[in-house]
Amino acid sequence: MTIQSSFEQLGLSAELLRAVSAQGYTKPTPVQEQAIPMILSGRDVLAGAQTGTGKTAGFTLPMLHLMQQKHMERKHHPIRALVLTPTRELAAQVGESVATYGQHLPLRSTVIFGGVGSNPQIQKLRRGIDILIATPGRLLDLANQGEVDLSQVEFFVLDEADRMLDMGFIHDIRRVLKLLPKQRQNLLFSATFSDEIKKLASGFLTSPSYVEVARNQTSHQVTQVVHPVSKAKKRALLSQLICDGDWKQVLVFTKTKHGANRLTKQLESDGIGAAAIHGNKSQTARTKALAGFKDGSVRVLVATDIAARGLDIDQLPHVVNYELPNVPEDYVHRIGRTGRAGNTGEAMSLVSSDENKLLRAIERLIKKDIPQVAVEGFEPDPEDIKIAADEMKAQLQRRQANSSRRRGCSPSAKRGGQKHNHSGRHRNKSARNS
Ligand code: AMP
Repeated sequence: MTIQSSFEQLGLSAELLRAVSAQGYTKPTPVQEQAIPMILSGRDVLAGAQTGTGKTAGFTLPMLHLMQQKHMERKHHPIRALVLTPTRELAAQVGESVATYGQHLPLRSTVIFGGVGSNPQIQKLRRGIDILIATPGRLLDLANQGEVDLSQVEFFVLDEADRMLDMGFIHDIRRVLKLLPKQRQNLLFSATFSDEIKKLASGFLTSPSYVEVARNQTSHQVTQVVHPVSKAKKRALLSQLICDGDWKQVLVFTKTKHGANRLTKQLESDGIGAAAIHGNKSQTARTKALAGFKDGSVRVLVATDIAARGLDIDQLPHVVNYELPNVPEDYVHRIGRTGRAGNTGEAMSLVSSDENKLLRAIERLIKKDIPQVAVEGFEPDPEDIKIAADEMKAQLQRRQANSSRRRGCSPSAKRGGQKHNHSGRHRNKSARNS
């Protein structure tokens, strides 16, 4: 592949180059280098790229360029491009990018998503929109009400397709596809490629070109560290790290919505300004929390994985995994919030002994060991480590017992063993004794 060194060489219009240089971008990111020429050539594209790689400009710039070339003054602006995103936050961010990059073009764009009143959205749609960015639910609602006409769509972008499927949007996607004209250019972006994604892609992409930037790999710009700590001391350790490090802006991940609320309250009671962002919060509360975080009035944003997906915060310096995610890929997504677009970042994971298994799964995925640094006064209790080690041994014994049962060992002996293994007390005792 030829190495492109500038946006000019990619053949983008003067209006787009002006908008790009006003953003301070000096050269295209790898995904942009690869995707922009392919999209400009009119082909369908299947791209493996996650948030933080510059993928939004990667599809928006060439799409705007092609739309600009074929633009004719029309009284009614029909929807010519549809970008479908899994979350409201991502829709809002893509909407901002489209408005920013297209600021010198006579094209109109808007964003529609649920959780807020639909009337203002309907009013905008009625005035005419060239580029529509939407989440699937609200899009289908408004299409069913006859407020969205997708029959003239020339470009269809499915952004973060893997997360769309995780969130159960497959049927909605199929419904949307039925509303689109056959003749169109399709772009699919996904951080990961499961068989389901491949099936979906093969259903609507026509001989796609492939773009691949490092997947399941953590950015070299991000320093990662694990702080082993007992569960009970996590909150105090987090407050200390924030205060000692004088962190002004930190994104903290918890596993559950409830955990996010609880931690937010605890941080507030430590005098640290915090807000939670998750699926149970109203759109207004989510927008407010994010705005506060971006303008510096909220120091800590506590988020669950889905809510944080797609969050684009310029130069976010710190990400903390208060709890490790169950799915190792989510670790890559989480820490991808920092170290973006050439900046450096720090990702810290507070890991209690019961999370060691999750940690090992993450290290296997990213193919490296994350350095462990115990913070004085917060080292895990020896008793916690012992309990976790006992539990691991017991698990191993259970697995061995199960596999020997599957191999057909003496049923009576197995039944006896099983009884003991089902009792936590016996299990720990036998593990300790072994
Ligand atoms: P994305 O992966 O689209 O969410 O973009 C991640 C971040 O990279 C955003 O804050 C963009 O503004 C920024 N960005 C996109 N393209 C470039 C570029 N070529 N140079 C520097 N920053 C960029």
